[in-house]
Amino acid sequence: MDYDALRNRMVDEQLIPRGISNKRVLETFRKVERHKFVPQDLEGNAYEDHPLPIAGGQTISQPYMVALMTQCLDLKGHEKIMEIGTGSGYQAAILANLAKEVYSVERLKELAKSAESALKDTGYANVKIKLDDGTLGWEECAPYDGIIVTAAAPKTPDAYIKQLKIGGKLVIPIGPMFSQVLTVVEKKADASSVSEVCGCVFVPLVGKDGWKK
Ligand code: SAH
Repeated sequence: MDYDALRNRMVDEQLIPRGISNKRVLETFRKVERHKFVPQDLEGNAYEDHPLPIAGGQTISQPYMVALMTQCLDLKGHEKIMEIGTGSGYQAAILANLAKEVYSVERLKELAKSAESALKDTGYANVKIKLDDGTLGWEECAPYDGIIVTAAAPKTPDAYIKQLKIGGKLVIPIGPMFSQVLTVVEKKADASSVSEVCGCVFVPLVGKDGWKK
């Protein structure tokens, strides 16, 4: 299969017409080999316009959703980013191209391991993965310029705001179990500003400050 052609088509037909316009984001989506992050039997489906199942009953998000969340962070290249929900490692690979360092937390061992090896194979050395409950963030490496949560939270965990720099952005799906609102919180010196981007559906963020299983 001509994966380079499929990848360019994904950008031209799924991302640009829906409003993904950040040049660095688009270039990155033309480059990162998504088929290396999906289960082997689904490689041929990697560039299709929908989420795909990965191990542990989890999902790798639709390419457009990954692009939209990434664009919300408005990365320039110098940032330290925390991701919650490593999953396949694809979002982490995208961030690794656009920021300086990526700290990603995953609660399922099987996924943390396979993401680590996919990131190694594709050559992204600036991603660190921790096996843990990410509802508490990754305090030792804080503060972060941006935080991206790729699982759905009933509310914003306090740790994320604490671990964000002033001026930094948190991108997180918030809401009930089966339908959420993609939300961007910008931390300010006094209060934080909150904006709602669109409706979305993510697997649950399970942990101490999230859903209880
Ligand atoms: N960003 C991923 C999408 C993963 S789906 C990708 O690019 O493929 C969401 C992931 O969040 C799942 O792997 C799930 O196991 C993980 N997750 C759920 N609750 C979590 C928690 N409390 N801490 C860390 N990871 C969590």
